[in-house]
Amino acid sequence: MKHEDCIFCKIVDGVIPSAKVYEDDKVYAFLDISQVTKGHTLVIPKEHTKNIYETDPETAKELFSRIPVIANAIRDAYQPLGMNILNNNEAAAEQSVFHLHVHLIPRYGEGDGYKPNWITHTEDYTSDDLQDVAKIIHEQIQQ
Ligand code: AMP
Ligand code: ZN
Repeated sequence: MKHEDCIFCKIVDGVIPSAKVYEDDKVYAFLDISQVTKGHTLVIPKEHTKNIYETDPETAKELFSRIPVIANAIRDAYQPLGMNILNNNEAAAEQSVFHLHVHLIPRYGEGDGYKPNWITHTEDYTSDDLQDVAKIIHEQIQQ
């Protein structure tokens, strides 16, 4: 189902223009208007889904199955040294467009524009703590 006020649904429908990289019946990929690095691409399901929490496994399967193809196309086109694949869910995690999307950000070396802000807390967790956290999450998995 399309969402009236969703800019990415409008991009899929061609109502808002985009620089299209890839399209099939389920998935659409286009350049992010704010290019972090050259070739920064967004991959989205055509069907509207807010973010990963609301995405059914079949849609996720379709979406993620296209990512290696698109990632390799970016690599062949621009020979980046690497690539970060990123997905933000909810405002607290910097999601600003509420239609599921995966960022493909090719990396060209230090100072290329991408700055992950990643602070680790390894010393705060014993291996028992890790087992406890894993167990708590595992217990919530419904199969
Ligand atoms: P996020 O912050 O993960 O929700 O990412 C949303 C991304 O959508 C941002 O990087 C924006 O630059 C990008 N964006 C917003 N509007 C457009 C548009 N009309 N065409 C292409 N990219 C867009
Ligand atoms: Zn949408």
